[in-house]
Amino acid sequence: MRYISTRGSAPSLGFEDVLLTGLATDGGLYVPESLPKFSLEEIRSWRGLSYSELAFRVMYPFVEDAIPADDFRAMLDDTYSQFTHKAVAPLVQLDSNEWVMELFRGPTLAFKDFALQLLGRLLDYVLEKRKQHVVIMGATSGDTGSAAIEGCRRCEHVDIFILHPHQRVSEVQRRQMTTVTGDNIHNIAVKGNFDDCQRMVKASFGDQSFLKGKTQLVAVNSINWARIMAQIVYYFQASLALGGPDRSMAFSVPTGNFGDIFAGYLAREMGLPVSQLVIATNRNDILHRFMSGNRYEQQKLEHTLSPSMDIMVSSNFERLLFDLHGRDGDAVRDLLERAQQGPVSIEDYRWKNARKLFDSAAVDDAGTCDTIREVFEANEYLLDPHTAIGVKAARACRRDPAVPMITLGTAHPAKFPDAVKQSGVGVEPALPHHLADLFEREERYTVLDDDLDAVQGFIGSHWKHA
Ligand SMILES: *Cc1c(COP(=O)(O)O)cnc(C)c1O
Repeated sequence: MRYISTRGSAPSLGFEDVLLTGLATDGGLYVPESLPKFSLEEIRSWRGLSYSELAFRVMYPFVEDAIPADDFRAMLDDTYSQFTHKAVAPLVQLDSNEWVMELFRGPTLAFKDFALQLLGRLLDYVLEKRKQHVVIMGATSGDTGSAAIEGCRRCEHVDIFILHPHQRVSEVQRRQMTTVTGDNIHNIAVKGNFDDCQRMVKASFGDQSFLKGKTQLVAVNSINWARIMAQIVYYFQASLALGGPDRSMAFSVPTGNFGDIFAGYLAREMGLPVSQLVIATNRNDILHRFMSGNRYEQQKLEHTLSPSMDIMVSSNFERLLFDLHGRDGDAVRDLLERAQQGPVSIEDYRWKNARKLFDSAAVDDAGTCDTIREVFEANEYLLDPHTAIGVKAARACRRDPAVPMITLGTAHPAKFPDAVKQSGVGVEPALPHHLADLFEREERYTVLDDDLDAVQGFIGSHWKHA
């Protein structure tokens, strides 16, 4: 399979190169040139498969040029054995035809483990084959950093440097990053905010000369195609568990960078009957404003109780725009360049096309807390603030009560104790067993000034073969 850029002018790449690249050279994101399509009969034949075998069936067409089938199977078995539930992504019923898919049974208690546990293994496999070493550099406001660190802790051929804003991530989130031991793991607390961290990462990808040509940077944010690919699987899993593919499903997805919900769109493009996708945002609602009014416009960042969705622009949305424009890279480039200057719209028929599948809702902090409380009172089931936004949006946007509505449970409530407390449910979510001693573990991190030279100097002298 070949991968092409959403802006149409970068060279096409194979899976290995896409895995090791950030943005395409033309500034676009890589997508498969064409998607594998599965018939209903084939999907039906997957009923009862284990999660990792299902993952193999769904993902193998994307990687087959790079990885022999047995090796990929072994990698998937190892990846999904790290999860603490046999079903890996179990469903919990909230109401007669309403469900939450728990995607927080991995090592760091957020859905990002599904992709980053696999990404670490993919990288090490490909780098071993190529006898190559890389440096991962990423900025995090919380969940991505810990999931990336957990995913790469055993990688022989990867050093990982994660920047977080000093004293601006929650203690649980910080400890999940800084207590992981391994001489290839480096946490940098930057005396600045998340945008400062992000800016330094971007600048470093743009000019990698501080690495002196001895290694290259690899991206672990959701512009990396391998992350999206891994997230397609659980849409198939949920559907098969509830009578698919012989009935269609609706999904509600708490959304920040549009990665997770884009995976749901791809599942449908690959043949899974999905009749509705709900984009659930917090007050950072650029996607909701687009879906409800065909107006795409950046606004100021708001800090909310659902910090993993606090974004101004959703990078993966470009991948959907590419399809909405008939895969015309020039049209996408033009649109996104104009979007830098002010609000933009797309042609009405294209927007209406998107609206056939997508609905959206924005939920503020009060609505988030209300939903945590409502669901707790009705079910004695505790939602994290991101999942609560998904549930509220699902209920607001539902089209057909006969179609199962599945909200993606993106994080464990113990990751966000403050929001749970603020909701007034009066119980404190406990950390799962494997993290029970998190607050006793020793932390390791380096505090640096908000200064590109200082950060690059640190990376340049600390990666393994520097
Ligand atoms: C990352 C994250 C999201 C947003 O996911 P996107 O793929 O960026 O849309 C939602 N909830 C939680 C808990 C997250 O960690």
